[in-house]
Amino acid sequence: MNKFIPVNEPLLAGNEKKYLNECIDTGWISSEGPFVKQFEESFAQRVDRKYGVSVANGSAALDIAIAALEIGAGDEVILPTFTIISCAAAVVRAGATPVLVDCDAMTWNMTASQIEAKITPRTKAIMVVHIYGLPVDMNPILKVARKHNIKIIEDAAEMIGQTYYGQPCGSFGDISTFSFYPNKHVTTGEGGMVLTNDSLLAERIQSLRNLCFQAKKRFVHEELGWNYRLSNLQAAIGVAQLERLEENIKKKRWIGEQYNKLLSDIVGLAKSVVATDYADNIYWVYGLILADDVGYDADEAMIRLRELGIGTRPFFWPMHEQPVFKKLGLFEGDVFPVSERIARRGFYIPSGLAINEDQICTVAAAVKKVLGT
Ligand SMILES: *Cc1c(COP(=O)(O)O)cnc(C)c1O
Repeated sequence: MNKFIPVNEPLLAGNEKKYLNECIDTGWISSEGPFVKQFEESFAQRVDRKYGVSVANGSAALDIAIAALEIGAGDEVILPTFTIISCAAAVVRAGATPVLVDCDAMTWNMTASQIEAKITPRTKAIMVVHIYGLPVDMNPILKVARKHNIKIIEDAAEMIGQTYYGQPCGSFGDISTFSFYPNKHVTTGEGGMVLTNDSLLAERIQSLRNLCFQAKKRFVHEELGWNYRLSNLQAAIGVAQLERLEENIKKKRWIGEQYNKLLSDIVGLAKSVVATDYADNIYWVYGLILADDVGYDADEAMIRLRELGIGTRPFFWPMHEQPVFKKLGLFEGDVFPVSERIARRGFYIPSGLAINEDQICTVAAAVKKVLGT
């Protein structure tokens, strides 16, 4: 049998080691080191935003975004049910109320019409989350937000390097957030970033990340923050990663194209959409959805692929079906058929940046075998 092919393997093929050695040689390993500023500035520039504030991870970035916009008890935040727990957790921890919407069956992203139906006088923000490879259709959502004077938090963790009508994802929110977990297009091991164009918000974000220490009276606090700082070691890796972003994006799209070709004649499978009017898929992950007439679900398909040496990951489990939120009495009576279906019938196959052509062929052959064509 072939060597097991993991669902994700990061690529650390640039100046990572060189910059890490610089940290060690100079003794700059904490968040005070020079790579942190450099990473923040170059990342913000790449996404066309004025201010970048690095943080410990993408979940922390969302906590900070919510706190920076002073969202709390009595406020509602609209977000997709089909996303990672971090999004809803940030809203719930702040004492605000998460209000969910379903996703589009083709792009797996939230849509403006469903958002608009959920707006109330208490809606303070829309948390836009781009899912898996195609951006959310932003223009109609920006219009709704302007009309109702609602803030936008844009979670672009999965869209580093992706564009919407040519403009970088992460450049649309009042605040946008990113993750640098090893399956993202830029990784620092663990890490994240908060971007904004608003200087006052940027100051608040910096303060919230750094325990709300004050410049004049350091250990006197007017507000509670977090220690969510990124270290110079992590930022050093980030700077090296960012130098190779264009190549990484090309590789991601190449991986997607290979799978599109190799899996084109399989019946019983819906694949990631290749493109929309506003973007070409960036294939953060390569998702597959079993057709209804396939006699088993994603869990079973993943077991069968594992037996053939192929790593997979299930799709997100919808927020309205999370035991932790049910226990809190949230989302009672919510029904979101598209998310419920793709959560049960969807999964993704190995599509990390270190994958090679042989491995892609092995994965595709295994998928064909499992689906019996
Ligand atoms: C990865 C991810 C996060 C969380 O990032 P971490 O760095 O793992 O905390 C948040 N939102 C989305 C959409 C993600 O894909």
